[in-house]
Amino acid sequence: MSDCLFCKIINGEIPGEIVYQDDDVLAFRDINPQAPLHVLVIPRKHIPTINDLDSGDAELVGKMYLAAKKIAAEEGVAEAGYRALMNCNAGAGQTVFHIHLHVLGGRSLGWPPG
Ligand code: 5GP
Ligand code: ZN
Repeated sequence: MSDCLFCKIINGEIPGEIVYQDDDVLAFRDINPQAPLHVLVIPRKHIPTINDLDSGDAELVGKMYLAAKKIAAEEGVAEAGYRALMNCNAGAGQTVFHIHLHVLGGRSLGWPPG
């Protein structure tokens, strides 16, 4: 998707502070972090929202969570606790329409989120 911000980060058109990458996913620090650790894990495949996932994407979503687990361990928040979630559509606060897992940690996280 030529007009997608996160596809541009994948392509290197826009810089990103990449913390993890493999053949299927990429992870980089959020430009406006909401916690000491705030990384976004994205698939290389352009998928706009959770609603656009199909059964063939099941392994890919699993890989996004495995990347989140690895990053949390490397960043030292795995034991204390962290959050890994996706917002879906505007009502939930989604602003970039290429699915991304927010990985947040390094502070106490309230529940429910706002
Ligand atoms: P959403 O609101 O869609 O769930 O999350 C989008 C996230 O992308 C936000 O946390 C926002 O700060 C982050 N973001 C937006 N533009 C950029 C950018 O150009 N670079 C990086 N690294 N993060 C971005
Ligand atoms: Zn995209």
